[in-house]
Amino acid sequence: MLGYAHLSTGLMATAIAVGHGALPLDSGTVIGSVVGSIILDIDESHSMVNKIIFPFNFLRNILGKLLFYGGLSAASFYSFYQLGFEKGYLLGILFLIITLSGHREIIHSIPGLIGITVLLCLIFKIDNTLLLPKSFIISFVFNGILHLLLDLFNKAGVKLFAPFSNKTLRYPICAYSNSTKARFIELAICMSLFTYILLNKNIFIELL
Ligand SMILES: [Zn+2]
Repeated sequence: MLGYAHLSTGLMATAIAVGHGALPLDSGTVIGSVVGSIILDIDESHSMVNKIIFPFNFLRNILGKLLFYGGLSAASFYSFYQLGFEKGYLLGILFLIITLSGHREIIHSIPGLIGITVLLCLIFKIDNTLLLPKSFIISFVFNGILHLLLDLFNKAGVKLFAPFSNKTLRYPICAYSNSTKARFIELAICMSLFTYILLNKNIFIELL
């Protein structure tokens, strides 16, 4: 599934969760939805999120990804060991995982999502105070899980429990992400969510 489809389905599913009172309507929820719905594709150099992070075409390949995130990891570890930047080793681990993860490998898994969320919480925790709003974390995890479930429509499949299991999972109905069939699947999911919102628009009335 492509980045725009992840983003639109993530935002619509989050809107439904907000409408049902499962998530608060605040900036944490919205930012968590945007980031959580596309961040897992950071392991793919041509993904939407990497087009935002490093918008230089010459860097958008496997070597560019290794140099960019590997360099960030090295700089983070250096900042910890040489400059005493307390969060440097956590950032170093995070960038190292991104550097080493192939597309739809450890980052595209439930343990990977949990690991990234824990690392983010530790990075943004200062003096026992978590700087990230709770709504951001819940929305981030919700959209991350949704991303994984949607990627099961990809014929290449997802190693949902990596690194503990290398079994590749996919739905019986699936397609390669650059195929016409994949566009139809994306359209069907978006239209289903949109129809649900239209038919249940009363769930948003309390928010108005
Ligand atoms: Zn993905």
